[in-house]
Amino acid sequence: MTLPARPELVSRLAEDFAALQDAALARMNGTGSPETEAALGHPALAEPVAIALAHAEVLVRGAVRRAELSGLPTQRLPSLRTYVRRVRRARSQAEAVCKEQHARRMAQRRAPVTAPLDLRVARAAHPQAYLRALEEELAHRGLPYDALSVPNHDRARWARERRLMHPEIPSPIRELLDCEDDSFIQALLHDAREAENPHLAHDAVVERWSRHARTALAWGRYAIAQAERAALARPLTARSAQLDALDDAYHDTAILTARAVEAKHRTADLHDRIRDLTATGVFADLITQCHEGALARFATVHLDLWDRARQLSAEHQAGCPERAAECPRCHLALAEAVAMEVPAADGLDEDDVTREIAEPDTASDRYAILDDLLPHAVVAVADAAVGDESTVCGYGWVSENGITGRGDSMASSSGEAEVVGICNAALALLDAAGTAPSSSCVTAPKPSPSSTGPLKAPTRRWPTAPLCSPRAGSS
Ligand SMILES: [Zn+2]
Repeated sequence: MTLPARPELVSRLAEDFAALQDAALARMNGTGSPETEAALGHPALAEPVAIALAHAEVLVRGAVRRAELSGLPTQRLPSLRTYVRRVRRARSQAEAVCKEQHARRMAQRRAPVTAPLDLRVARAAHPQAYLRALEEELAHRGLPYDALSVPNHDRARWARERRLMHPEIPSPIRELLDCEDDSFIQALLHDAREAENPHLAHDAVVERWSRHARTALAWGRYAIAQAERAALARPLTARSAQLDALDDAYHDTAILTARAVEAKHRTADLHDRIRDLTATGVFADLITQCHEGALARFATVHLDLWDRARQLSAEHQAGCPERAAECPRCHLALAEAVAMEVPAADGLDEDDVTREIAEPDTASDRYAILDDLLPHAVVAVADAAVGDESTVCGYGWVSENGITGRGDSMASSSGEAEVVGICNAALALLDAAGTAPSSSCVTAPKPSPSSTGPLKAPTRRWPTAPLCSPRAGSS
């Protein structure tokens, strides 16, 4: 993508994370200079600003939690919580700007209409029949059925295998690509806690980074929960060391959050570039040739349908104002008319096929497990919730025979905490029935050595200054 030339201030903010974050927060507080405001509106800073505010939001949430656990006078907490909400809103707005910008780029990149109108009409009229013709053509060429599709996962590998991207991978990148998942997550934690790993941004690795960023983030939340519990176990006046550990844990999690957002943006950019690569050159030529072959097969089998599609298309284009642009959207209405007039030659009813796929009995599927319950089974349900600032998830459960329970867990989401809750319910009900294991404790995953060890301050671009105090002009 070619961006407009950057003014000097934009370049400086792009390279200085702390300055960029300060500028974004100043804009939120209404205290930024006009020059800085203008620079922050530059397209090149949209994603960096979203990343900086994601980082800031975690830090200010940590500041609130520290205040809650340190016995700060309760009258000061509302202003801190208000500040968190304002940072969260600024972050949402920054993400919305990124989405708008991406949508605009996609609209500019949209591939021109390449297939003639009659072909688009024919294949939209009976897509299953056209798909069969295309599969026959691919098989005839010795290609797999999905040879023309860009996969949803591992697109960089797919592009390398087709020589759309450079196939060589330097050895440090190869190590990151080939290691086990556990080792990769350790590398993400090291990236956040010790030193930034520049190799994560490589095209070959960035999808894996994005995929595992949530797991790394869960370890960050787990460390916060451990620190919270350690603080709560001490008297209010003797928590200083535990609260410092809590700060460190929030700081690590802020970086993990920012890096997860960065990975998401970089992956989206990679996918855009791969999409561009498939729209031109050898791959685009292959697509054209395969569709030409498929059309010849389709026209042979579905002669009436093809004749009608050509006739209707010619009549339509004689009077359509969008003819010069190849009628980019007209084929759908024409295809509907053709499908009504001419059934597929092999008698396959497309509507029936679609209905069968699109309308499963979702309610009976969802509750099918209830059919297998034994008559004497006791039903229990669990629910869980996590607060905005705490990472300890509270859960509760209740069974139909009146037994209830509650607790908290260090699960990384309320959904996981619900699973912990229902497991505890099952064990407690077994206990009550006299058939239980001796312990009814279900625990969260064991922490990795890196998440239990002392949390080191990161030695990199992320700022260390606390962001907890509402700035001048905030309310
Ligand atoms: Zn038209």
